[in-house]
Amino acid sequence: MEVIKITPRGYCYGVVDAIQLAKQVARDPSYPRPVYILGMIVHNRHVVQSLTEEYGIITLDGPDRLSLLDQITSGTVIFTAHGVSPAVKAKAKAKGLVCVDATCPDVTRTHELIRDLASRGYQIIYIGKRGHPEPEGAMGEAPGSVHLVETREDVDQLDLKTDKVAVTTQTTLSQWDTAELIEYIRSRYPGVLVYNEICFATQARQEAAATQAKEADVVLVVGDARSNNSNRLVQVVRERARRPAYLIDTVEDIDLNWLKGARKVAVTSGSSTPTHLTRAVIEFLEALDPDQLEAGPAPG
Ligand code: SF4
Repeated sequence: MEVIKITPRGYCYGVVDAIQLAKQVARDPSYPRPVYILGMIVHNRHVVQSLTEEYGIITLDGPDRLSLLDQITSGTVIFTAHGVSPAVKAKAKAKGLVCVDATCPDVTRTHELIRDLASRGYQIIYIGKRGHPEPEGAMGEAPGSVHLVETREDVDQLDLKTDKVAVTTQTTLSQWDTAELIEYIRSRYPGVLVYNEICFATQARQEAAATQAKEADVVLVVGDARSNNSNRLVQVVRERARRPAYLIDTVEDIDLNWLKGARKVAVTSGSSTPTHLTRAVIEFLEALDPDQLEAGPAPG
């Protein structure tokens, strides 16, 4: 089958650096043991598993970073690319843990922006996904001044009685949904300062998916179900390229029924998806004979 390899796809610089940093810490005996990662280093279970099995790094996963720290009494703690709040950093230090910060520079920039706006008396509307670690860290920069919204209804619930309103965003959102929500916020707060913080890596992957997927009959997105940017790629393909799109964790998840009647399939992957998983999917698809699929029996 003809396979369109959507480019760019896969690991972004923030993820590559975070994984490298974690491996470096694990190899360096001067870092006290055990070595923990506070939350999944990236939202991909294969990456987490390999760091545990090959490097002995313990991943602590749970609803919020602050309470996860209760499980650690000694050793080294790595903060993930999603960033953490100052309260988490302070608590880790107070516990005497050695802290290693793998926060992506793009996330750090948003944290600095929030601190600066809050110090100048702004109320900040933060467009992000509830329950995701990135908003948790960003909102912790100015508790009480940052308001998380996902939808227009959330915006309607806000009652900010000030002219000093700013809006900023999580880095991995759909750029089109976000643009619409920003316009809605602007209609409610005409003088709002807008800082769209969707990162370059996310934008480039979304734009590539929106345009290159149009050439395909079906699109497969390789990524973990918890990865926000992978889910957004599925959404972008469906809504912008108007093609059927499926999120798969590995090659094993491919349902051949999706491919019946298709001559071209496009493949992309989230910025937290290891390259070898996407390669396996591409190789499997390239070996498929569309005519054989039409005939019925599934090729080996
Ligand atoms: S998706 Fe963007 S913000 Fe997140 S780690 Fe990658 S480059 Fe950084």
